[in-house]
Amino acid sequence: EQRKLQRLKFAPAQTVDGTAIALCANIELPEDAAAAVAAGAVGVGLFRTEFLFMNLGNHMPGEDEQFDAYRRAVDGMGGHPVTIRTIDVGADKPLDYRDESRDGYEVAPNPALGLRAIRYSLSEPQMFLTQLRAILRASSLGPIKILIPMLAHAREIDQTLDLIAEAKRQCDEAGHAYDRNIKVGAMIEIPAAAIALPMFLNRLDFLSIGTNDLIQYTLAIDRADNAVAHLYDPLHPAVLHLISHTLREAKRAGVPVSVCGEMAGDPALTRLLLGMGLTEFSMHPSQLLEVKQEVLRAHIPTVERHVQDVLAAYEPNELQAALRRLERC
Ligand code: PEP
Ligand code: MG
Repeated sequence: EQRKLQRLKFAPAQTVDGTAIALCANIELPEDAAAAVAAGAVGVGLFRTEFLFMNLGNHMPGEDEQFDAYRRAVDGMGGHPVTIRTIDVGADKPLDYRDESRDGYEVAPNPALGLRAIRYSLSEPQMFLTQLRAILRASSLGPIKILIPMLAHAREIDQTLDLIAEAKRQCDEAGHAYDRNIKVGAMIEIPAAAIALPMFLNRLDFLSIGTNDLIQYTLAIDRADNAVAHLYDPLHPAVLHLISHTLREAKRAGVPVSVCGEMAGDPALTRLLLGMGLTEFSMHPSQLLEVKQEVLRAHIPTVERHVQDVLAAYEPNELQAALRRLERC
C-alpha cells in the first residue's frame, strides 16, 4: 500500500474530470520543507512561524534570525510558493518569554478567546514589524505570501495592512529588496469572518480556512480540553455551511481560497471538500499522498451533487446517509 502511494508522488493531482488540485504542505520549521518536497507538495500553504518563537527561553528571535529561517524555507521549497503565517501564539501555544505582568496572558480566563494570534501581534507592534521585515526580505529570494491568523474585524485588517506598509517603508530605508507585490491573505477561522466575508474579500488577496479553530469557535468547544473533545465535530452542519459559504463566496469574488486545517489532510473528507469547490488543500506532509489518491479517484460533478445532499441534511441520520452515498459515488 505504501509503495503504491509512493508511486503517486509524481502524478499530477487531478480529478477524473480533469480539475487540477493544488496539494500543499503545512510546516512548522524550515527543515520541514524537505518532507513537503518529498511528499510532492506544490508549495507550503501554512508555515506556522510561532514554532520559531516557542521554547526559546528568554530569547526572542531577531530580524536576521527570522530572515534566515524564512530564507531556508524558501530555499527548501525550490521555487514553490511559501505561505508564511505571522505568529499565532496564545491558547495552546504560549511564549516562554512573554511578559505576563504586562499582557496578563498566562492568567487570561480563557486563552482561546483572549490575546492570541493577530491580536497579540497588534499589541506588540515592534515585534510584529520585526517579523514582517524578516518576511519581506525573504520575499526577494523566492515566492512568499503573508498569511494573518485570527482576524475578525475590519479595523484589525486595516491596522495589519498599515503595519505591512510601514514594514515595507522600513525595508526601503534600510536598502533591503523585497517583493513589492507580495500577497497578503487572512485565515478564516472565526465564524464572524466567514459570515462577514465581504469585509475580507474587499481587503485581501487570498483566504485560507483554518478549520481547527473554525470548529472550536463555531461549536464553543475548546480544542485543547479533553472533557469536551467528543463534541468537537468537523461534520456539524453549522461548520459545513460556514466552509461551503466561504468557498463559494471567495470563488464568486475571484479570490483564491484554500483549507489548511486538519480537515484538509483527512482523506475521508477529501470528496466533501472537493464537492464544495475546494481546489487548494494544505496539510501535514504525511497525509499528502493519501489525499492525492482520493483526488485522483473523484469526479467533481458527481461528488458535487452528493455534497448538496450533505449540506441539505440537518438530522444526523440523514447526514450520515448522504455522507455514505458520497463515499460510494
Ligand atoms: C486552524 O486553526 O485550522 C489552523 C490551521 O491553525 P492552527 O491549527 O495553527 O491554529
Ligand atoms: Mg488556527
